[in-house]
Amino acid sequence: MRLTRSLVPTIKEIPSEAQIASHRLMLRAGLVRQTSAGIYAWLPAGYRVLQNIARIVREEQDASGAQEVLMPTLQSADLWRQSGRYDGYGAEMLRLKDRHERDLLYGPTNEEMITDLLRQSIKSYRELPQNLYHIQWKFRDEVRPRFGVMRGREFLMKDAYSFDLDQAGAVIAYRKMMLAYMRTFRRLGVQAIPMAADTGPIGGDLSHEFIILAPTGESQVYYDAAFETIDTSPAAFSFDSEADLERFATLMTTPYAATDEKHDEAAWAKVTNKREGRGIEVGQIFYFGTKYSDPMGLRVAGPDGAQVIPHMGSYGIGVSRLVGALIEAHHDDAGIIWDDAVAPWKAAILNLKMGDAACNAICEDIYAKLAGNALYDDRDERAGVKFNDADLMGHPWQVIVGPRGAAKGMVELKRRATGERMEVSVEDAIRKVFFL
Ligand code: ATP
Ligand code: MG
Repeated sequence: MRLTRSLVPTIKEIPSEAQIASHRLMLRAGLVRQTSAGIYAWLPAGYRVLQNIARIVREEQDASGAQEVLMPTLQSADLWRQSGRYDGYGAEMLRLKDRHERDLLYGPTNEEMITDLLRQSIKSYRELPQNLYHIQWKFRDEVRPRFGVMRGREFLMKDAYSFDLDQAGAVIAYRKMMLAYMRTFRRLGVQAIPMAADTGPIGGDLSHEFIILAPTGESQVYYDAAFETIDTSPAAFSFDSEADLERFATLMTTPYAATDEKHDEAAWAKVTNKREGRGIEVGQIFYFGTKYSDPMGLRVAGPDGAQVIPHMGSYGIGVSRLVGALIEAHHDDAGIIWDDAVAPWKAAILNLKMGDAACNAICEDIYAKLAGNALYDDRDERAGVKFNDADLMGHPWQVIVGPRGAAKGMVELKRRATGERMEVSVEDAIRKVFFL
């Protein structure tokens, strides 16, 4: 994209409504704008990040065997009456009526709807297991929406739902998701630690929250640094091997990890390599047995013909919260530092002398070769303004094109994360940006 033709409204002033770095930076870098309390419009740069995160989440869900679907945001209140959650869910649920006075709600989560879909679609144990997910907007009328997209009212979530014949099957589904989550967060460039959790309004018996360390996190967390070196790659564990999944689950539940509520000082004292700090919840997984399948009447014929109630789990990732969480984890005084995997563009091309024939020609050449992966700062602005905006926006690479270098066909390449600069040819700049 050419910056002169883009809606990337960067701002220099520090927005007074934002209390934490990621919120300030998301506003300043022109990623989002608030449209009402806790509800955000995603502008081009922000939307590209959101889509990059969603793509990585999707790829890892697919690799684990989960199937993507898309359920609507609006749900019938009747489904929630069947599970018994309609009255209990409280003021967080946005309730509305259609023109026929039928009760609807904007989904805060989808256990009821997916259970209804399975109830209509499967009859036999042979059709299990199933794991279905979607990436869809949710609404929770949070009492105190804050920290920008980190605690919004409308937010994008990946939610998956597993159905198994029995508890043993459901535990395998749970482990697969835990493995998929570890891989997802590592690809996003953050270290997320699974911590045993209470189940809250989703309910159930077994749950883990995935938490990343960041100074502005909402809870205090403690974990053994041993987590950071566990290899979770496909070379180490296969989704197709139950033995691998069990070994993985054992490895994941051995080192110490706890949120404030579950913290045990005696056990913590024995940990040699401690990590401690504020944590942001970026995902949570639940096994809850027949909590929804039973009251909603989901049944399949078992191997002996008798009716069986499937066991379920649900698995959430806060896709839009992650945009803020990644910035909390990776920024400095100058701005955002995007990981290559999620950056809106891999590089910014900074033309330091618009109108100079050599500068323009080199910039156009690089812009064409980077094919959609670059934001070209073609504004008629001072170099300092371009440097500041590029640092603020956090592009992994800056290709800096000035008249002196351009005359000999050279450009300067800056790596945002390290500040490292090098003078290279156009070809080398492109190779580096693409890691060739
Ligand atoms: P929290 O404890 O932060 O309120 P939760 O436990 O209620 O979250 P879950 O039901 O576990 O949330 O939802 C799955 C994921 O969705 C969470 O791990 C979080 O990343 C994200 N999420 C939940 N609520 C919000 C929100 N209000 N704004 C943005 N993301 C959210
Ligand atoms: Mg949660």
